[in-house]
Amino acid sequence: MIRKKIWLFFVIFAVFSYLQAGDKAPLKVFISVDMEGIWGVVHYNQTSSSSSGYGAARKWMVEDVNAVVAGLLEAGATEIVVNDSHGSMRNIIADDLHPKASLISGSPKPLVMMQGIDDSFAACIFIGYHAKAGSASAVLDHTISGGSVRAIKINGIELPELGLNAAIAGYFKVPVIMISGDTETCRQAKSILGNKIVTVAVKEGIGRYAAKLLPPEEARRQLKEKAKEALLKKDKISPFKLNPPLSIELELHRSSQAEMPLLVPQVKLINPRTVGFSSNDYLEAFKLLRALIALASRS
Ligand SMILES: [Zn+2]
Repeated sequence: MIRKKIWLFFVIFAVFSYLQAGDKAPLKVFISVDMEGIWGVVHYNQTSSSSSGYGAARKWMVEDVNAVVAGLLEAGATEIVVNDSHGSMRNIIADDLHPKASLISGSPKPLVMMQGIDDSFAACIFIGYHAKAGSASAVLDHTISGGSVRAIKINGIELPELGLNAAIAGYFKVPVIMISGDTETCRQAKSILGNKIVTVAVKEGIGRYAAKLLPPEEARRQLKEKAKEALLKKDKISPFKLNPPLSIELELHRSSQAEMPLLVPQVKLINPRTVGFSSNDYLEAFKLLRALIALASRS
């Protein structure tokens, strides 16, 4: 009889320990937050730190992020890392961020908009993202550098920032489960990353400097609910991978901007304003691409 009781005690203890361990299983989410696709933002006057509209826009930025963080926590996220990814990357005022999230602030940082990602994360989310350079009815469309970059192609496919950054997440086998921005950004995300990604269009682009905004409470409600929905269905969404060998083409606005990037030995001129190189490792290719854009911006 005593033996039976001891066994029973062990079984109850084992089940209890299993349930406790299940509760504590880590569920880490990485958030990269840009500014052009934030609710309310329609002009450079709001995204440049020296401009008069910036104070309001950085407040909207953290409100969009906090709504997403709240949704992720309801879906069971145990750790949330937010990487400030616009301009100086010091847009979010640290103590305005949701108290359960950690902030990566400042620049430069090696992986730029994706600094902090690694294979310990279960999912990645892009907030406030924008369409690629040359998009119609898209608020503040550009690709990395508005002054230099006309297009970036990898293995023949033109990619917006959301594609270039999703491939970094994919390098670490992390799926991008949700994106927010304007309607055109959401369309480009589905066309590149697949239809299963959850999208929240917080504004409908009218032109490069105009949009129809969702009512603010509705925007934040959708950001929260969709983040929760996205994390609960994360296993249905595949990581976005660019498989080597990789052929990278950087098309610039002017032929003079190709001259400095050509000083790098492995870089070739493809046409007067386009340079290219090959790589077998996406992370290395991404870093070289960033260096070439920095060089191009000097001429
Ligand atoms: Zn930006």
